[in-house]
Amino acid sequence: MFLDTKAMRHLTAEDWKVLAAVEQGSKNHELVPTPLIEKLSRLRGGASGVHRSISVLAKNGLIGKIKEAKYDGYRLTYGGLDYLALHTHSQKRDIYSVGSRIGVGKESDIMIVADETGTQRVLKIHRLGRISFRTVKSNRDYLRKNKTGSWQYLSRLAATKEFAFMSALEDAGFPVPHPIGHSRHTIVMTLIDAPPLRQISEVPDPAALYSELIELLLRLARHGLIHGDYNEFNILIKEDKVPSSDPDGEPTTTLTPILIDFPQMVSMNHPNAEMYFDRDVACIKTFFLRRFHFTPTKPGPFFKDARKTVGKDGAPRMDAALEASGFTKKMARDLEAAIQEQKDLVASKGDGETASDYDEDDAEEEDEESHGSGDDKEEPAVLITHCYTAPDPQFTEKII
Ligand code: ADP
Ligand code: MG
Repeated sequence: MFLDTKAMRHLTAEDWKVLAAVEQGSKNHELVPTPLIEKLSRLRGGASGVHRSISVLAKNGLIGKIKEAKYDGYRLTYGGLDYLALHTHSQKRDIYSVGSRIGVGKESDIMIVADETGTQRVLKIHRLGRISFRTVKSNRDYLRKNKTGSWQYLSRLAATKEFAFMSALEDAGFPVPHPIGHSRHTIVMTLIDAPPLRQISEVPDPAALYSELIELLLRLARHGLIHGDYNEFNILIKEDKVPSSDPDGEPTTTLTPILIDFPQMVSMNHPNAEMYFDRDVACIKTFFLRRFHFTPTKPGPFFKDARKTVGKDGAPRMDAALEASGFTKKMARDLEAAIQEQKDLVASKGDGETASDYDEDDAEEEDEESHGSGDDKEEPAVLITHCYTAPDPQFTEKII
């Protein structure tokens, strides 16, 4: 699945209304009946205008039919959902143009975008279920029937949770990208011009960086939170050179870690909190040992000690904030199950996976009659997971 924004500029106001109608109808219908699309679109021109728009949208792969469907209707594709989200971001002036993709995660696409002034930002498109819906056949049948398991629902949940946590973390003074906008399964945030820890081969003082990362983890715990995926891909390292006070002296390098990737964050009260906490600690330790041959002298930190610090030092609990934002316990459970399933699947497949396993439209769309290309045939054959490349300054394409 590749975000191709070319068709955006050619869509009319009517086409957008019809696309939004298909999205609205999808809440209660797996396949939205054409008469319902007509009704929800509320176009002045009546049915013929709607049919013209349907054909444009289908040709561009934004909506699709299902083979052997029992009635005439359409469903929203990944591309259609992407377009609706981009449209909203562009109306809110969060995004003006879209550029290249800098990261391909198992569960997301990371795109460089820019606002009207040319300031670069990051668009994270959640694609939860991208692998599992394609490869786990038994699940697929189950998920098809079960709306709460659909990729759209899960990807929206992931984005909602990530945006809520990024905002709460920023408010609490954590080093995170600034969250700018949220629409459906996507979020817009500031671009951090820094590579992930994974790409750092040497640091002047591994012990200092290690302590800082552990302190961040303990600070999260005081706020009632565990990152849940605290690894070298999800910590960006900003490098600043500070001139020496001595005119002949060498500048010193300061490294500032910035945290990203929050859909899997869990509460310190979670039944498996200890496991998640220990795993986050172990991840950092293992990485520091392998990469920098560094072993901390002190054991821990231990969950039982961290548990006692929740809410201490005036740290407001952030784990409750999500529920307050309308994210129900059921949503949290659904998302957690999907993330876990995805992780299990990745673990069972190993690392030698290729992009062709899931770079095209998801399995639901596999069964649709094809209208237009929709997906990108120029994808690299080998999956680059979480790849960071410095953004190209003159890249972006205006979307409307
Ligand atoms: P996933 O959930 O797929 O792991 P992440 O949020 O971790 O997605 O992003 C994947 C990669 O994209 C990161 O490892 C990082 O290299 C890059 N990235 C994500 N967000 C930003 C950002 N705001 N600024 C710079 N790079 C980013
Ligand atoms: Mg990540």
